[in-house]
Amino acid sequence: MIRAPEKKPDLRDLSAAELQRLMAELGQKPFRARQVLHWLYKGGATSIAEMTDLSQDLRVRLARVTRLAWMEPAHQQQAGDGTRKFLFTLADGLAVESVLIPEADHHTLCVSSQVGCRQGCAFCRTATLGFKRSLTPAEIIGQVLYARSVVEADRPLTNLVFMGMGEPLDNLDNLLKALEHILGPHGLQMSQRKVTVSTVGLADRLPRLGRATPAALAVSLGAADDKLRDRLMPVNRRFPLAALKAALAAYPLKPTRRITLEYVLLGGVNDRPDHARQLVRWVRGLKVKINLIPFNPFAGAAFRAPAPEDVARFQDVLVDGHLTAIIRRSRGQDIDAACGQLAARAGLDKSGAQR
Ligand code: SAH
Repeated sequence: MIRAPEKKPDLRDLSAAELQRLMAELGQKPFRARQVLHWLYKGGATSIAEMTDLSQDLRVRLARVTRLAWMEPAHQQQAGDGTRKFLFTLADGLAVESVLIPEADHHTLCVSSQVGCRQGCAFCRTATLGFKRSLTPAEIIGQVLYARSVVEADRPLTNLVFMGMGEPLDNLDNLLKALEHILGPHGLQMSQRKVTVSTVGLADRLPRLGRATPAALAVSLGAADDKLRDRLMPVNRRFPLAALKAALAAYPLKPTRRITLEYVLLGGVNDRPDHARQLVRWVRGLKVKINLIPFNPFAGAAFRAPAPEDVARFQDVLVDGHLTAIIRRSRGQDIDAACGQLAARAGLDKSGAQR
């Protein structure tokens, strides 16, 4: 646990159990770990020095073996609809974006899990960056802590969606550590129903996710036909629709909860009534609701947005098939903050910065 100074972990990279072990190694009683957790997550501490109910000596010894970073965006933009996009520059010069979306009585934060992405979905702008690296637990939670610190008290940050840059299940260890602190009793104590992990459907990792966290699950489907899905989402070549469906059927769900299926509607590609009927057949037997996301265009994209009447017709077919289907309104489109448009570029030209 105690590492060379240059390898010092951020205190927010440690699970509660790891922090307890560290405090024991420093000769401290277990309640000291709880005090530190309080500073980290309830107190939003920005430095070890400010943890004033720890002795000066303990703070110095803690700072010898760990560090504590506070993430602030290097840039931010505000859309006409109030949506804010933050660009965080990371310690190695790479950058990620998060999007803070105001609702009537709360905020939702769209959180990133990686810089770039390995999945290569044909319709996603993040995919055009390629993969740079996974975020650490501290970098995932840092986005949440910053957003919490800037929202107004009467519109708190209650909802998180892991729908920013990256594939969360491709960074599962760090995601789970972050979720422990986001949901946990000594952490942010956010509601498990309001924290959603969104995945392309890495079927082999779903069992572990389901065992390890009660957070809500969303799966990006994009097509209910293997040939089409192979083309839109390369992950389908490894985990075809049948394998994905088996993993979803086995996913642990509380009685009142459902899995969200996200279906990006690409004009003329997967938005025909036939595609909707395929989808109705495919979901049979699964406990799901469906979010329809009209494609958000970006420069150089190979797709176009669906016509509004095609979106409505697609939804009608699903509803006639007795499914719950909601059309997701795009937020923050004028600042490229909508779904699939995140592509933070800061630092990417520093090739030496890639790990
Ligand atoms: N890797 C995860 C989370 C990031 S993508 C996942 O795939 O679920 C979040 C959602 O945005 C996914 O449902 C994806 O299909 C959708 N999406 C990606 N690019 C989009 C675009 N250009 N327009 C609309 N939705 C898009």
